Amino acid sequence: MRSTSKRAIIIWFIIPLILILLTSGGYFLYQTFKGSSVRSRRIIAWIRNPLSNPEWSLESLKRCKPTSPFLFPTDGYVGYLWDDSFRPGHNHQGIDIFTSKKSGDTPVYAAYGGFLSRLPGWKSSLIIRIPDDPLLPGHQIWTYYTHLADTNGESYIVKDFPPGTSEFFVSEGTLLGYQGNYSGTPGHPVGVHLHFSIVKDDGKGSFLNELKIKNTIDPSSYFGLPLNGSTNRDEIPLCPPL
Ligand SMILES: [Zn+2]
Repeated sequence: MRSTSKRAIIIWFIIPLILILLTSGGYFLYQTFKGSSVRSRRIIAWIRNPLSNPEWSLESLKRCKPTSPFLFPTDGYVGYLWDDSFRPGHNHQGIDIFTSKKSGDTPVYAAYGGFLSRLPGWKSSLIIRIPDDPLLPGHQIWTYYTHLADTNGESYIVKDFPPGTSEFFVSEGTLLGYQGNYSGTPGHPVGVHLHFSIVKDDGKGSFLNELKIKNTIDPSSYFGLPLNGSTNRDEIPLCPPL
């Protein structure tokens, strides 16, 4: 009798509960990551065979519309957007532009003029201060460029901007370096790309921590691109028709 009632509890209560938890947990993960996985599949397809989809690529030094504030800083396919989520609790703080060429081969240019700094320890990153946000005049913003180094952290940033560079004025279109695959940990490369983000000012003349999404702004509208990481995940991020 006792074992029968135990079995009944398992059949009618525990098993359905486990099924409900598994289903709802799976649905949550699916909703969270489906966009990113669509994008990840496209990035792999793009890197394997860029010639099959040449229309996916942005062209450096061009802009979507004459009124778009930022130039495209490099050639390639915008694989990940701002606010994409790769793992629970993490959202992407910028856009990733993937080249189809080798590490060190694809130039990266300043998307907008400003004052360039490179902290002494930065191997693959630099940041440009823009005193007057072109879309929100009166506010200072910072544009952050990273992954400009090889697998082992050998920098691809041009010699004009060595570590320790501070407040060096560059105009839009200035060559900054080349797309690389340095992850921050030597010997553990990422796919060759440029990570570009817009970082908010701390109000005291410096920038906030660029690793946190709340300290960043979606760059899409600065390029005239219509998308961000939370909508239209199935579309390719390209300039809207003029
Ligand atoms: Zn990125």
